[in-house]
Amino acid sequence: MSQALEDLRGLKCIPDFEDRITSEEYKYTTDKLDVMQINVGRLCNLACKHCHVEAGPGRTEIMPRKVMEACLAVCREQQVSTIDITGGAPEMNPDFEWLVEESCKICSHVIVRTNLVILKEEKYRHLPKFYADHKVEVVCSLPYYRAKEMNRVRGDGTFETAIEVIRELNKLGYGKEEDLVLNMVYNPAGAFFPPAQDAMEKEYKMKLWKDYGIVFNSLFTITNNPMGRFETFLKRSGNLESYMKKLSDAFNTATLPGLMCRFQISVRYDGKVYDCDFNQAADLPVLTGETIFDMVGKPYKKRKICLANHCYGCTAGQGSSCGGATE
Ligand code: SF4
Ligand code: SF4
Repeated sequence: MSQALEDLRGLKCIPDFEDRITSEEYKYTTDKLDVMQINVGRLCNLACKHCHVEAGPGRTEIMPRKVMEACLAVCREQQVSTIDITGGAPEMNPDFEWLVEESCKICSHVIVRTNLVILKEEKYRHLPKFYADHKVEVVCSLPYYRAKEMNRVRGDGTFETAIEVIRELNKLGYGKEEDLVLNMVYNPAGAFFPPAQDAMEKEYKMKLWKDYGIVFNSLFTITNNPMGRFETFLKRSGNLESYMKKLSDAFNTATLPGLMCRFQISVRYDGKVYDCDFNQAADLPVLTGETIFDMVGKPYKKRKICLANHCYGCTAGQGSSCGGATE
């Protein structure tokens, strides 16, 4: 178990997460694998303050093609309904475009998570069109609708660059045409919860349209999980205990049926399998110990989810997942 999880387990102010789940059903996955999230590496052009995977330009972990091939084989066999490609900046993996093309051949819903800023770099300028040609759903992170707040988290000039890229995506039809979906992710820039998703979406839509003429489909609000750089920030600022207490006090049983770990797996660059991206960040692999290579050619089996106290991040208030609120 990582030091971060040891720290969370040692907190006296909160009960163990697993004890809060009164129905056994929610400690297990469903019978069907619905979503495969493929994390193609930790290399990123940015190094955001609250990155839970601690990605950055100096990271060398990159998913090789043989791991991607095993992921695709499992997706094909299990007929997953969604392939969700993430990173780091997934675009920086040398086999990224190949993975997208192959994913689109076997699955009608392929998501790419992008920080947008990467798409302004010369080497990646062609990718917005590539996304549109393949009808990939683009999920972009835009930590706030104002430059000051976003640049503080992501770095100087990142907001302005992101806006230019969204304009380009809009020109291609993203956010406007039915089959070109552009969703945005908001997560708080500190030790507080995201506002109600519906209200925040309205606010984002209104501000971005008024100030920049930008449109998009939906906003996903995500609660910061106490992992990676965010956990370091909580500790350094003396907020870890109070943040965890806030999460625990806001525990909402209505979020349990929609926990993303019940329907998905998250695959690391080296083929190790996790229940979700947060468990990947915490290096808490699936309890079966399977790798993606072990899953090829085998029937999918329901499994117990590896739960720990960072899971409070998914069950507070309106709930949180890679697709936003879960309640
Ligand atoms: S939060 Fe996203 S864009 Fe920022 S460093 Fe992490 S992976 Fe890169
Ligand atoms: S952190 Fe992962 S394992 Fe824990 S509740 Fe959230 S999705 Fe499930």
